[in-house]
Amino acid sequence: MNIPLKLTVLGGLGEIGLNLMLLEWEGQLLAIDAGAMFAAERSGEGALLIPQLRHLGQDGSKLAGVVITHAHEDHIGALPYLLRRFPTPVYGTETTLAFVRRRLAEAGGASTADLRPLAPRSRFSVGPFEVEPIRVTHSTPDSVALAISTPAGIVIHSGDFKIDPDPIDGEKFDHQRFAELGSQGVLLLLSDSTNIERKGRSPSETSLGPTLRELMSRSRGKFFLSAFSSHIHRIRQVAEISHEFGRRVAPLGRRVTESVRIGTDLGHLNLPPGTLISPGEAEFFDPHQLTFVAGGSQGEPLSAMMKLATETHPRVRVNAGDTVVLSSRFIPGNERAIYQLINDLYRRGAEVFYDSVAPVHVSGHAYQDELAELIQLTRPKFFVPIHGEFRHLVRHLSLAMETGIPERNCFLLEDGQSLILKSDDAHRGPSVPADAVVVESGDRMVAEKVPRRTTLGRS
Ligand SMILES: [Zn+2]
Ligand SMILES: [Zn+2]
Repeated sequence: MNIPLKLTVLGGLGEIGLNLMLLEWEGQLLAIDAGAMFAAERSGEGALLIPQLRHLGQDGSKLAGVVITHAHEDHIGALPYLLRRFPTPVYGTETTLAFVRRRLAEAGGASTADLRPLAPRSRFSVGPFEVEPIRVTHSTPDSVALAISTPAGIVIHSGDFKIDPDPIDGEKFDHQRFAELGSQGVLLLLSDSTNIERKGRSPSETSLGPTLRELMSRSRGKFFLSAFSSHIHRIRQVAEISHEFGRRVAPLGRRVTESVRIGTDLGHLNLPPGTLISPGEAEFFDPHQLTFVAGGSQGEPLSAMMKLATETHPRVRVNAGDTVVLSSRFIPGNERAIYQLINDLYRRGAEVFYDSVAPVHVSGHAYQDELAELIQLTRPKFFVPIHGEFRHLVRHLSLAMETGIPERNCFLLEDGQSLILKSDDAHRGPSVPADAVVVESGDRMVAEKVPRRTTLGRS
């Protein structure tokens, strides 16, 4: 094959956030993910960073489609801006597309988008590429990796993943398919580097059950749990345990309420009838009969959790005897706001549990042994670590070498850099501008570029 395949990274390699990568063959482009991240150094809601999109329309190249691996903001957040400039089909699982629809509606552009559902193990074509989604486990339902057949060979993009042996929905990581592709021959593996610093394997999502049960059994009052709103498995888990204890479950906050609706519509929640109630119905129950799933585990200023902590929530109060569980990690940069939130919740008389005092959160990203396992399953010729800060990428590259990929076949790429691939060769290509772009809420795009090394936010 004389015409080489080109891989260009526009975001997500050098920071965790704003993921966007392009595969190009004969001027036809396939984009993988289109994410955003919050600009932590800027105050104000809606100050978002998205990848630099200028490169997309250049050199006469044409975007044939965007394939989305899963519903997290760092993978879908830039779609409204991308589609406005480059209308193109968007492919994702039903769950992912439900969140994409919500994201587009927030930015006022849902109706015109060409959204096409994909399913694990069902191949489809995008330009010259044939894409096969492969089921992985992660902290939002229906997440997939992608095996992309290109004229140069098979490229596997891991998406965000962990290898959860016991997922809440029973939908397991598809070992078999990765292994089959490995025997067939994989040209390139692109793999999630988020948790490369953590030894061993990540705990299963179901491992949270005993802790949540224990905390709920001790709670005399209302039980509050705050997690990322798209973590439908966690919402399901706390709702099922609540049902065991005779508690009804009410969502608090716009995003959590929408996630509960999406989860119910698509069958991910599957709760006994009557388990879910509205916050308005909660007043008919005693405190020990109630669980609230609330948004705002990062201490976001206008979130339900913050309103509860500051006694400004219109319907619900936190009182002595209540239990609050912050079931997510503290994203760096948010610690001050979160500790303030915890202090205020204690002031209301609640008992508060969070990651550093009780095992109330597990990560959705693979640890070292799982990352090595994916490399061993797929046995790629070439390897590029993705989804990480620079230090994560460096460590993941070392792991790949220890796992048997020759050093000359491992490439450390950063945003703006490219790789030229043939079936038996890979080398670095030219760089393109990849400074992140600040967008405000609504559709105003500010002509202001942010040099990568000064961005502090993480999403
Ligand atoms: Zn991600
Ligand atoms: Zn994710």
